[in-house]
Amino acid sequence: MISSTTYALIVIATFAVMEFNAWFLHKYVMHGFLWNLHYDHHNPDPTRSYQYNDFFALVFAVPSFLFILFDSIYDLPVLGAIGFGIMAYGAAYFFVHEIIIHRRWKFMTPKSNWYTRGLNSAHKIHHSKGHKEGCENFGMLIVPLKYFNKRASLSKTN
Ligand SMILES: [Zn+2]
Ligand SMILES: [Zn+2]
Repeated sequence: MISSTTYALIVIATFAVMEFNAWFLHKYVMHGFLWNLHYDHHNPDPTRSYQYNDFFALVFAVPSFLFILFDSIYDLPVLGAIGFGIMAYGAAYFFVHEIIIHRRWKFMTPKSNWYTRGLNSAHKIHHSKGHKEGCENFGMLIVPLKYFNKRASLSKTN
């Protein structure tokens, strides 16, 4: 047994580590040997609603599912907490990347605030090149500070 505080801390720590994992996966795998699958995210085909890039959702979903499953069978709460942390990160990634940034489903209009503006400008720079090399901003939820500052200074000059 672990306490509910420990459980919550494991979920939160897993969520934080997942931002690093997602950055690593994006920079070294998606822009590396699995670029073939990520290519259509940088060069979307307007005739299809799915992208081969969507396959990467499984990288979050499969371990998360298995960890939660193993916890429910073998009573391994630490593993279960990690599974829920991965699931929460996967949900946040999906929401921020597919819905707020790329607007793939337009069922809601994201509010424009300092955070969504920073997110959008950092990710727009990431997408400014349609090829594998020379991209920047591989992280998702953590945006380099300069994108907030740049916006702030832009709005001051306008
Ligand atoms: Zn990319
Ligand atoms: Zn993107």
